Amino acid sequence: MRSLSRPDYPIPTLVESGVGGEKRNAHRAAYSAEGTVPDKFEDHWNKPDVRGLLHAMQGHVCAYCGLEERTLDVEHFRPKGAVYGEDDTPGYWWLAYEASNYFFGCPACNQKRKSKKFPLLANATRITYETRERLPQEERVLLDPVKDAPVEKWFHLEWNDPTCKLLPAPGLDASDESRIEDVIDFFNLNMDAVVRRRRSAAYEKAVRTAELGNWKEVRRLAMRHYEHSFIARFVLLELRQVLPTPEEEAEDLAGHLWDDMREQVAEILNLRQRGKAPARQDLRQLESYGWALVVLQNQVQGDVVGELLARRLGAEQDPGVREEILKLFRKLCVGVQ
Ligand SMILES: [Zn+2]
Repeated sequence: MRSLSRPDYPIPTLVESGVGGEKRNAHRAAYSAEGTVPDKFEDHWNKPDVRGLLHAMQGHVCAYCGLEERTLDVEHFRPKGAVYGEDDTPGYWWLAYEASNYFFGCPACNQKRKSKKFPLLANATRITYETRERLPQEERVLLDPVKDAPVEKWFHLEWNDPTCKLLPAPGLDASDESRIEDVIDFFNLNMDAVVRRRRSAAYEKAVRTAELGNWKEVRRLAMRHYEHSFIARFVLLELRQVLPTPEEEAEDLAGHLWDDMREQVAEILNLRQRGKAPARQDLRQLESYGWALVVLQNQVQGDVVGELLARRLGAEQDPGVREEILKLFRKLCVGVQ
């Protein structure tokens, strides 16, 4: 589990006049006029700007299990269609095109563990379109990594266990404690072999780096776009060290996304040189990295991200790559020279 903050950036797909925004309004108008709820949803949540927004929030890390994956699904936190086990209810259709309802989830969390499930606490009432004003009070089991941040409010680590078993935080009342146990079970966080092995590696690394007194590096490992970053976050808190600032996180993440973008550009140019057309998916992925950088540049105080982009562009040795990146930035209206 992790702590995230959602960038407040009006991406074109989801603003009122965007394709997603128009769908959202059309669904609501149809419901108000005829009481009909949509039974089909066009996929606008995989548009490059939407994926870019999520890359700016999470890098390549799953919102739930904390693993870094190259393949990430855009996950509706509250299911857009019928909730699992409740086929006769319409689900949270009005949130299908809301950025606040999206996270990147790894295929295992999205498709296997979560899918259409959205459990509520015992005897809680599911919110409907009519009662949507009370959505923040809905008594859900799953934690929202943005709204329920920070993660240490809910979880604690068993330090003596090499896999860093997750436990409910001390001091929670009995119902919250049982809720957190349910969350741990739901995502299989203490049982999944891959999650445990990689969490154990993150623990080893964070502790070894802290022992060396390299706090700058521990702070880096605690940034939201590193795998199992909450381990390093816990290490910093436990040892009363400062956490990374939003500016530091944005700059570091922008550096990673720049590298991803550059790699994608080089691959596309390589294909073209060999007379092959790049796959549409590759072009869309490239554009999503561009959007992520736009979002990051607008997310934090000062211009640390803009300066990083200018530095990286200035250092680019390959004129072809440089030209492609400039072309992308022009398309997205980013002023970097
Ligand atoms: Zn996952």
